[in-house]
Amino acid sequence: KIDDKVTLSNGVEMPWFGLGVFQVEDGQIVVDSVKAAIRNGYRSIDTAAIYENEEGVGQGIKEAIAETGIKREELFITSKVWNADLGYESTLSAFEDSLKRLGLDYLDLYLIHWPVEGKFVESWKALETLYKTGKVKAIGMSNFQIHHLKEVIKNAEIMPMINQVELHPLLNQEELRKFLKENSIQVEAWAPLMQGQLFENETLLTIAKKHNKSIAQVVLRWHLQNGVVIIPKSIKEHRIQENGDLFNFELSEEDMKQINSLNQNHRVGPDPDNFD
Ligand code: NAD
Repeated sequence: KIDDKVTLSNGVEMPWFGLGVFQVEDGQIVVDSVKAAIRNGYRSIDTAAIYENEEGVGQGIKEAIAETGIKREELFITSKVWNADLGYESTLSAFEDSLKRLGLDYLDLYLIHWPVEGKFVESWKALETLYKTGKVKAIGMSNFQIHHLKEVIKNAEIMPMINQVELHPLLNQEELRKFLKENSIQVEAWAPLMQGQLFENETLLTIAKKHNKSIAQVVLRWHLQNGVVIIPKSIKEHRIQENGDLFNFELSEEDMKQINSLNQNHRVGPDPDNFD
């Protein structure tokens, strides 16, 4: 089901599926996207301070709650601390600013957005502090490579629960996923649809035709069968519906193998070892 959940290492339940709102304009557009998602059964929303749409996301949540009667506790809201705010005190205040913009009194998940060298360990300590106060139910990071994670773990009191990384058929992150599994850190994919650049792939097209599904649905289903949390982005209600319609078919082992073999270690986003 669309609201099926994975239990994170600390016992918190997170939906396998949700809406991403990167590059979604603040104001009515993001309000409407969030409402469309929740109306169609989505329960998880992924934003970040740097997306500059937390106010609209918060407004969308508020309106969806008023219109559908679902409760705040049924939703799973993620935000992230931006690079410029890394460091202990600045992460604590960035978190409060995000909460305020979202109009919420707690977050379900808070992530360090990028592994800024010399700063991310201090930010991790801030996330531990926030976690202990109960203002955030789970903590983690994004775009961390194995060596970044090892540095955090070495200094951590609380193990991360999530690492959100670029992950799609052309970048299947096999090695990183193995490390995360061994450390009970759940993997979450950003750009699960490779930001819309997979829709002419012949292998995917053949598999999609066989199942009478779209390429988007096949790729999203591939993630789920690999045990990956996904947050595809769309602002169009028909695509929001399409992307959530993944629970009435199954890819065969052979389909999975074929999609796994598309890997080229090809990134659409910045390299976590070399970004500004
Ligand atoms: P995505 O892979 O979700 O692709 C989104 C694009 O694909 C959309 O703009 C749309 O044009 C197209 N699309 C979506 N559904 C479609 C469908 N059914 N048919 C045809 N086209 C479709 O890319 P993304 O938005 O970059 O990633 C998803 C989310 O991950 C983001 O919105 C954001 O929340 C998060 N993210 C995080 C980071 C990070 O550094 N942590 C970076 C980028 C994105």
